[in-house]
Amino acid sequence: MPTISETDVLSALARIRGDDGSAPLTEQGAITGLRIEGGKVTLFLVARGLQMSDYEQLRDLAEQAVGQIPGVEKALVGITAEKPVETHPAEVGLDAVGAVIAVASGKGGVGKSTTACNLALALSATGLRVGLLDADIYGPSAPKLFGLSGRPQVLADKVLAPMEAYGVRVMSMGVLVDPDQPLVWRGPMASGALKQMLTTVAWGELDILLVDMPPGTGDVQITMAQDAPLKGAVIVSTPQDLALIDARKAVGMFREVRVPIFGVIENMAHFVCPDCGGRHEIFGAGGARAEAERLGAPFLGEIPLHMAIRARSDAGAPIVALEPDGPQAAAYKAVAAALLRALDAGRPIPSPRQPSVAPPRLK
Ligand code: ADP
Repeated sequence: MPTISETDVLSALARIRGDDGSAPLTEQGAITGLRIEGGKVTLFLVARGLQMSDYEQLRDLAEQAVGQIPGVEKALVGITAEKPVETHPAEVGLDAVGAVIAVASGKGGVGKSTTACNLALALSATGLRVGLLDADIYGPSAPKLFGLSGRPQVLADKVLAPMEAYGVRVMSMGVLVDPDQPLVWRGPMASGALKQMLTTVAWGELDILLVDMPPGTGDVQITMAQDAPLKGAVIVSTPQDLALIDARKAVGMFREVRVPIFGVIENMAHFVCPDCGGRHEIFGAGGARAEAERLGAPFLGEIPLHMAIRARSDAGAPIVALEPDGPQAAAYKAVAAALLRALDAGRPIPSPRQPSVAPPRLK
């Protein structure tokens, strides 16, 4: 199969001409997030100034043009609104951030990062200014999930601009180091790197900064929970008993360091069959809701296990951005609304009952 290069894609896009003979798609900054994976090409048109219907027309033309390149099996073109990042030095760090909220899980693989990414987009879709810090320094996934490439801009001595994807500001260790380099951190170094990403990034004015925490309840997580000015945490769990036991540990950890729990999200709650549309409760049902109740924390909602969520994540084109009116996006938007209600109510204060697990070891 022929290998597709960026140049092939750009030349195909250059052939799309406006009425005045210009090539609107190869102008500086006209496209973003170009990814080529095997026979699949994904890219985004940056909407700035034209009518939406014009962008939709351009998108169709771009999909056709890229689809005709030999070797391309699938061309996916989205439209994104990219807001310029303000770079006022006073906005370095978290001073102008309304609420820093941790997204955590008791163990890996429950879909915490996927949930954090789509939740950030769902919050942003309500008009809030949203950022996401990928604090999972051992296995950063934000670059892949948000389709980020390149390095962040250095604004001043040691000050970095966050990257921008689909209107969300993002920072991740994954954009600072070579993606193939294994990230081996010793405890204190890991906490130091995280603190730097909180304090030396020009986050600017944000309403909400989600922190995609590393999975588990080890030292790094505890340091982070203690040191980051967290307003609260949300816990992502799958419905199986085993995942719920781990989720309970995560809740215990936050309570131990007096970080309020905003609620529990049940991910992979049920499977929606793409063929028959049927709903199958593979891991049982309602486990996280019951667990939230037991812990005295709000239940923020359920996200189905759906192939499109996984496929969109792998393509760096998150489902809430790409299919904002679809049923999966609706599930994330419902969770975002529940989180905002919990924030507004200011009631996510944990009940003063004892944590249900042995308290984590504190330094
Ligand atoms: P974690 O951050 O908890 O380790 P990830 O977000 O990386 O987990 O998700 C693990 C895998 O599960 C990924 O392949 C992701 O695409 C997939 N995934 C997560 N949530 C869903 C979902 N609701 N439906 C389908 N696949 C999902």
